[in-house]
Amino acid sequence: MNRPFNFGAGPAALPQEVLAQAAGEMLDWHGSGMSVMEMGHRGAEFGTIYAQVQTDLRELLAVPEHFKILFMQGGGQAENAIVPLNLSRGTSADFVLTGIWSQRSQLEARKYCSVNIAASGESSGYTTLPESAGWQLSRDASYVHICSNETIHGVEYHELPDLKALGSDAPLVVDFSSNVASRPLDWSRVGLAFGGAQKNLGPAGLTLVIVREDLLDRALAVCPSAFNYKLVADNQSMFNTPPTYAIYIAGLVFAWLKRQGGIAAMAARNQAKAALLYQTLDSSQLYFNQVAKNCRSRMNVPFFLRDESLNDAFLAGARARGLLQLKGHKLVGGMRASIYNAMPVEGVQALVAYLREFEKTHG
Ligand code: PMP
Repeated sequence: MNRPFNFGAGPAALPQEVLAQAAGEMLDWHGSGMSVMEMGHRGAEFGTIYAQVQTDLRELLAVPEHFKILFMQGGGQAENAIVPLNLSRGTSADFVLTGIWSQRSQLEARKYCSVNIAASGESSGYTTLPESAGWQLSRDASYVHICSNETIHGVEYHELPDLKALGSDAPLVVDFSSNVASRPLDWSRVGLAFGGAQKNLGPAGLTLVIVREDLLDRALAVCPSAFNYKLVADNQSMFNTPPTYAIYIAGLVFAWLKRQGGIAAMAARNQAKAALLYQTLDSSQLYFNQVAKNCRSRMNVPFFLRDESLNDAFLAGARARGLLQLKGHKLVGGMRASIYNAMPVEGVQALVAYLREFEKTHG
């Protein structure tokens, strides 16, 4: 089956093999007579699925033993509250603002603690990352929050900051919603990482939290029990009913990632895909991307047409060629190509061919 290439930012394309396998197992998972959707989360069948998902994810992302992997609900924006409820002790936290998602995170955190903006890329229109050497980190922050990939502005940290080297002992909190599993991650620099699954891991409804064990037991008394990291960890993510079907699909994605060669192989492929797309944009007279080269996202590539009156024609032509969901986020306009793990290089090649063709006829 020839499906179109889906460049949506999330919920995003899943590997076709994964969808086909899920379809085949929909009515009867492995002879159990049940769909995964119909299984009790504490039963033996789901237990088998869950154990494999934990093992595969830990192996794929090389998560050290002193981190817990939690499967929660609520999505990235719920974590903007859940993180300060668990980590802030009601004191203060540092935020580095690099786009809309880190902005939203700090706004939400203000309900639970005081917020220090350590640095902001706002004056550049969020087209650059503030140099970490210039961050104004506070002495007593309960944590430092960054967004490792700004899905809307297309700005990505190619290396996580080393807070110790910057003189801070605070744990680093990373919103990795839109670049989790796209590249290896240096856990020695991380206290907690969180992300919604709906871009690189699986369907919406599952939230991944990976947290260092020493950070588990500092929640505020008002923290809802279902969002208390220690309770969730002590109950193997089954304090409440977890999003079982989404966990199962994520498990199929993890098995697919292993078959692709793991995260290092995905990172190389993602780098090549992004390079092809950025080179095409940079060498064009019609399109442009505004993000500084040292922090361009390998996952979300926003771009603009110099003549914006061509936008509708561009999108219509793309749709006609099976290139879907290229319209940019309404807050920034223009176009955006999201090229997560599940986007094959052939999809980027098809987009590049269309970009050139459209420029030839309209440039
Ligand atoms: N953080 C980032 C980086 C995101 O891209 C998104 C969603 N696009 C969110 C947080 C919010 O996620 P959710 O919609 O799951 O709350």
